[in-house]
Amino acid sequence: MAISIHPSVDNGIKQGAKDFAGGTLVCKCTDRPVKVSIKAQTAHNHVCGCTKCWKPKGALFSMVAVVAKDKVAVIENGDKLKVVDPAATIQRHACKVCGVHMYGRIENTKHAFYGLDFVHSELSKESGWSAPEFAAFVSSIIESGADPKNMGAVRSRLKELGLEPYDCLSPPLMDALATHAAKLSGVLKA
Ligand SMILES: [Zn+2]
Ligand SMILES: [Zn+2]
Repeated sequence: MAISIHPSVDNGIKQGAKDFAGGTLVCKCTDRPVKVSIKAQTAHNHVCGCTKCWKPKGALFSMVAVVAKDKVAVIENGDKLKVVDPAATIQRHACKVCGVHMYGRIENTKHAFYGLDFVHSELSKESGWSAPEFAAFVSSIIESGADPKNMGAVRSRLKELGLEPYDCLSPPLMDALATHAAKLSGVLKA
């Protein structure tokens, strides 16, 4: 039996649509669901094994992408949102009732990813969102209870799906973080 990574990728990766311009994320509540409008295509979509991202029930990984924060707007029932961990770098705004994370925002203006919100495009009925490109923080699924002995099979399945497994972010994103840090410290001239 194939290992289940995430419901959006288990049957193969769906490619994004070229002129896709966004959609509406809806939480899992049947009564007064929270709705968040995203008026752009997402970027850097990936599956993530960290312990902080919201995962659908039973999934080993979350699927998360970024979008410019000025394209993100809470349009319905925003009173149900609460920041999961105010001390975290990414302020994840979750529905207090169903627990789904609707968007994650970086408030630290010095952070390399400031200006980008983290969103789970699977929460939208629209199709055409950018496809996941890699798997981040793969080893971290062990911290959520995955069997360490199964990691070889998990990494093989990710590769089979075309999601290169990394134990942090992908090299281009790690380089972006390091470049930003080097510019801040003055090691690298801007
Ligand atoms: Zn909800
Ligand atoms: Zn994560």
